[in-house]
Amino acid sequence: PRAGPTVLVTGGCGFIGSQFVRLLRRERPAWQVVNLDLMTYAAHLHNLEEVWAGQESRSDDSGAGDALPADGPLQRLDYGKAVSGADPGHVLVRGDVADAALVDRLFTTYRLRYVVHFAAESHVDRSILDPAPFVETNVRGTQVLLEAARRHGVERFVQVSTDEVYGDLEGLPAADEQAPLRPSSPYSASKAAGDLMALAYVRTYGLPAIVTRSSNNYGPHQFPEKLLPLMIWKALRKEPLPVYGDGLQVRDWLWVEDNCRAILAVLERGRPGEVYNIAAGNERSNLEVVGRVCDLVAERTGREPAAVRALVTHVQDRPGHDRRYAMTAAKVQRECGWAPRVSLEEGLARTVDWYLARSRWVERVVSGEWRRYWEAVYERG
Ligand code: NAD
Repeated sequence: PRAGPTVLVTGGCGFIGSQFVRLLRRERPAWQVVNLDLMTYAAHLHNLEEVWAGQESRSDDSGAGDALPADGPLQRLDYGKAVSGADPGHVLVRGDVADAALVDRLFTTYRLRYVVHFAAESHVDRSILDPAPFVETNVRGTQVLLEAARRHGVERFVQVSTDEVYGDLEGLPAADEQAPLRPSSPYSASKAAGDLMALAYVRTYGLPAIVTRSSNNYGPHQFPEKLLPLMIWKALRKEPLPVYGDGLQVRDWLWVEDNCRAILAVLERGRPGEVYNIAAGNERSNLEVVGRVCDLVAERTGREPAAVRALVTHVQDRPGHDRRYAMTAAKVQRECGWAPRVSLEEGLARTVDWYLARSRWVERVVSGEWRRYWEAVYERG
């Protein structure tokens, strides 16, 4: 047995969860990580390449990612069976957080001390096409985990949530942790419900749960349906860059590893029953960020910035699209000693370089199932 605590990380093969697993393996090497992930379309083998293959973290510009498979063997893992790669500190179980029997078995087998709950249906556009899986995973799945944690006992349960639960803040002050919840989409409504269930378990059963609400994450390993990877890929192919509506929707951009460091700080130093907003004060419109990405792609590929920017095409806006998200994050800074490390400028450059080095891989990922989905969303109406 390992000396350190065992932590259940749900959704540890997704964009943010995999970054959190890598951070833990690097900075808390004595901890045992049990990663429960259903391996939906959003989970990818490459997300855990270092942990799985036991390699040192590759430099972002090595181009090595082009050798990665589009769909890895992880997607074909036996359901419910624990498997490990080269790193014995990380165990992966393909399974559903809403599967109470499986979750119960994990608590019994691993004597879990902490739970960090990332697993979710996470994409707003998908929630507009079909809200049902969002309720199943984000609401019922969260309740199943909370219930197991209550019955078995844990030292901390971190519910990972989003600024989207505060709703559209255009013309309003940035939300602190007391701001009302006014979710707009089926996605954000399901996340708000999960948050409230966690807080109800604190009050009713004394479960030491904490909620983190972070702003818009960006960085390497994000599935190519999300704004930045999509724009980089399209810009590279000289295809139109589809920007919703006028593109003036404001998001607060957060480097994904800064978010993970904040979540770890909350796990170790946060107070049970509290909510912590996590944001870095980078409010920008989508159009501004896409413009900056165009300039970076132009710079890296020797094209004219104006020519790349000219690819921006305004498409029909998302139904109910929120105009602005904004939060204050003084509490996590004060109570948990966290501060962001990577500026937006540096983070955008690193993100563009990461995807440029993996363009052929992106190409393969975005074929098939995903392409059909894409057509349903963007060719609607
Ligand atoms: P993601 O879609 O990249 O990853 C989600 C992961 O959860 C995938 O690996 C998927 O296979 C897994 N999963 C989905 N349903 C599951 C189920 N029923 N059981 C087990 N695993 C399941 O999402 P992400 O962007 O990494 O987001 C992670 C968390 O952070 C989510 O809870 C999301 O709401 C929250 N969040 C995301 C952002 C953002 O900008 N991406 C911002 C704030 C909060």
